[in-house]
Amino acid sequence: MADVASAVGITLRGNKAMCFNGHDTASPSFTVSKARNTWRCFGCGEYGDAIALVQKIHGLGFLEACNWLCGHFGIIGGNVPLGRRTHSVSRATSSRPASPHPPASSASPDPELYSWLVAHCGPVQASLGTTYLEAHGIAPELAHRFGVVELVDPARAYRELERHWGAERIRSAGLSGSRRALSWSGYALIFPFKFDATTQYLQVRCLQSSRKFFGPAGIPKPMFNNQRLSQLRPGSLLHICEGVPDAIAMEGSGLAAVAILGATSFRSEWVEELLPFDLVGVPDGDAAGEKFRKCLANEFRARSKSIRFVVPPEGMDASDVIARGMNA
Ligand SMILES: [Zn+2]
Repeated sequence: MADVASAVGITLRGNKAMCFNGHDTASPSFTVSKARNTWRCFGCGEYGDAIALVQKIHGLGFLEACNWLCGHFGIIGGNVPLGRRTHSVSRATSSRPASPHPPASSASPDPELYSWLVAHCGPVQASLGTTYLEAHGIAPELAHRFGVVELVDPARAYRELERHWGAERIRSAGLSGSRRALSWSGYALIFPFKFDATTQYLQVRCLQSSRKFFGPAGIPKPMFNNQRLSQLRPGSLLHICEGVPDAIAMEGSGLAAVAILGATSFRSEWVEELLPFDLVGVPDGDAAGEKFRKCLANEFRARSKSIRFVVPPEGMDASDVIARGMNA
């Protein structure tokens, strides 16, 4: 119960906290019973268990709150299909099969729509988001500099998007599948890929669902922070990271960095753009990172260009290392 309370942003002192309803001024009346795994507020009389608290704080239904807890605490296989209950009647009476996902080729990047979405999201404020950024070595000012925003309510965001752009435009921008909804659920951070002041691509980091990353479907992943290349002098040190937070964290430490989202998204035409620089590859310390390292090594060897690698300890990525350095 105490873990869940702190996960939703309630700061306990012992087993007490100021109530989330905001009526406490002097003494805290929200109380957690660690023995019973429940909470109660002696001010407003509300009470419940861990699931009820998540429902209250995040405005979720019961199943959504269960999914949030599973996602947040890494409970594998706990994701409850939300559609099953609500659609059981129509499924039983309808023989229409679920519409297949649209072919990938029908999607194209939509900088105008992406920019609009990012502009209508707020700065990262929820503890879920700030905790994630801090753990990745990204201070609030740095997040702001890179335009990182939070999207708290994807259902509402979809409605607003649809009102302004229409369902078809959202779908062809790769942000919705066959359903009229964004492709992800729950609280998420959005990392915009900016070039010439427009947002060319988005990486969505979900913090409340079992799937972590979403990008516009059917759209090739561009290099993150590629506008940096035009600001660098030939021969300058340039780090090639595997993840967006890594590149941002490195930039925050004064190191020029771009990110390439995994070995499979590397495009040979990027080699040309990267040739002028003194390259350091920064793969994650895992199996995918090893694949990434090999991919970069091969691409540059083919052009007789040398590239060094800094590999973080196993199971860590560059931003873990930077975050530890910051906190040390
Ligand atoms: Zn209360």
